[in-house]
Amino acid sequence: MDLGIRGKRGLVCAASRGLGRGCAEALAEAGVDLVINSRTEADITRTAEEIARRFGVSVTPVAADITTEDGRRRVLDALGQADILVNNAGGPPPGSWTDWSRDDFIRALDANLLSAVALMQALVPAMMGRGWGRVVNITSQAVRSPIPVLGLSNTARTGLTGFVAGMSRQVAGRGVCVNNLLPGIHATDRADSLDKAVSAAQGIDIEAARRQRQAAIPAGIYGTAEDFGATCAFLCSQQARFIVGQNILLDGGAVNVTM
Ligand code: NAP
Repeated sequence: MDLGIRGKRGLVCAASRGLGRGCAEALAEAGVDLVINSRTEADITRTAEEIARRFGVSVTPVAADITTEDGRRRVLDALGQADILVNNAGGPPPGSWTDWSRDDFIRALDANLLSAVALMQALVPAMMGRGWGRVVNITSQAVRSPIPVLGLSNTARTGLTGFVAGMSRQVAGRGVCVNNLLPGIHATDRADSLDKAVSAAQGIDIEAARRQRQAAIPAGIYGTAEDFGATCAFLCSQQARFIVGQNILLDGGAVNVTM
């Protein structure tokens, strides 16, 4: 399917690997010129070169921490304007609700709520001015069904979901569609580290931890960054112009709800 976005300009945050990279690759395949970001210079530079070579689009890497004001400024300076924004950052660490301090909450809110809000505030007004834009926020299945050990994530991402619910309806009339993509378990480094946490907590080996987590997914598999990226690219397409303020769950059926 031609997504109708060839020649558009996009920013994908936290994209040297994992879900962010999956989104960057799918957008590049659709012909979008990109700025991509992550903290480790060698990784983001290599990823940009690989994507540019494979898909023949322009890909500019920016090594910066997207959860800081300075990091966002450097990304925005390299970007100029954008038609497409994919918000992403690393997820907060697991733990217990009894232990998280105010600073832990502030770090989680900075990473998984306020960075996305700041980038939308920076880029969406100009999208509205041009009458076209797409924003995809990578959140988590945890906004539909809480994951107890990821309480910091549950909290921050639900906050972003509330913000988007209101804001998306204020910008839709100017051609800007803002939606959230909710990953269930995908085979990325983040999933590996959560497998390791289950393995350590239960004293089982990592393969057993993975089998246990896969057994809880009706599809019986982990998703891939490629699956995820394809959905992201569709949400950024011309055809997605009637999809506004939605929370799209990609979880192999794991969250057991009717709607
Ligand atoms: P991942 O494989 O660990 O990749 C994370 C990417 O983000 C890397 O490119 C990393 O590069 C970059 N990054 C991390 N912190 C950053 C920061 N502060 N500034 C800029 N870049 C940063 O993670 P993932 O699985 O793709 O997950 C992406 C998001 O989806 C996370 O928030 C995660 O919690 C959430 N999620 C994932 C799953 C899953 O199953 N995979 C499920 C639910 C939710 P550097 O380390 O070099 O910066």
